[in-house]
Amino acid sequence: MANPHSRVYLGDRLVRAEDAHVGIASSAVLYGLSVYTVFPVHPEGSGYTAFRLDDHFRRLEESCKIIGIDRFAAEWDFARFRSAVVELIAANAPADDVFVRATVHVVASIPGTRVRGCEIQVSMFVYDAVPIVPQDGMRLKSSPWRRIPDNAIPSRAKVNGAYVNSVLAKQDAIDSGYDDCVFLDGNGHVCELSAANIFLVRGGTLITPDVSCDILDGINRRTVLTLAAEDGIPVIERGVDLTELYIADEVFVTGTSAGAAPVLEVDGRVIGSGTPGPISEAVRKRHAAALRTDDVHGWVTRLVG
Ligand code: PMP
Repeated sequence: MANPHSRVYLGDRLVRAEDAHVGIASSAVLYGLSVYTVFPVHPEGSGYTAFRLDDHFRRLEESCKIIGIDRFAAEWDFARFRSAVVELIAANAPADDVFVRATVHVVASIPGTRVRGCEIQVSMFVYDAVPIVPQDGMRLKSSPWRRIPDNAIPSRAKVNGAYVNSVLAKQDAIDSGYDDCVFLDGNGHVCELSAANIFLVRGGTLITPDVSCDILDGINRRTVLTLAAEDGIPVIERGVDLTELYIADEVFVTGTSAGAAPVLEVDGRVIGSGTPGPISEAVRKRHAAALRTDDVHGWVTRLVG
């Protein structure tokens, strides 16, 4: 992750990045008990736009609800969240595209592992929008590490501590000379990457694991499903075997920090022709345009004070 820009949000105000601290005895640090989201902000004319800000807020609320971080719903609503983002962006005035990482930390220092009623602090910071995977064609390795199942640490909730699972799998892929991993569940079905959702194309149909496959319900995944369906591309959400990826015509991934980027190889098998396929390319262009301008779905929020 890139470094935070100079002004960050913590608690209920802006502070200098070097002054923003979460305690060493907090549950956030001791247990990874924080939830987060990351969304893009783009300079636009004299101001800025954010992509699907309300959906990011809702997912943060849902992550809190799943984990039992009840103080978030009591203390935060979308209006407060939005004005904190506006304040943060105005203070940093980024010249280029950035990502904003918003985290709900359980800062209570309590003996034992509890969550209900525990004190929280929200942090937000801005960093340069650098993609986390190659944009021109990546190579993936199926991971020996299994995706955490819904009845262990739910992938549907974006829990900081759960990212140890992603770290293990991504590092294994990098150590083996690949760009990222493909997580499988305990039965060998495809879930997602370390921090992106996965799609395949077979016979002109777009296929992606459904939301009960131990995945994060990615906001860019939803975006691509909507745009593809509108463009007349048949879309199916269903279970996918690893070997189905090997024989796909095209594979691509989606995510805030991944974009909509093509996959050219999985476990040493070349995907399709070994170059980005036509549906992947069409989706990538539609997705990139929708991030900045969207008159139809109301996905682009103008950030004004
Ligand atoms: N899966 C995981 C595990 C992720 O961390 C991310 C990144 N947030 C995604 C999928 C993609 O989600 P989104 O499109 O909301 O960024």
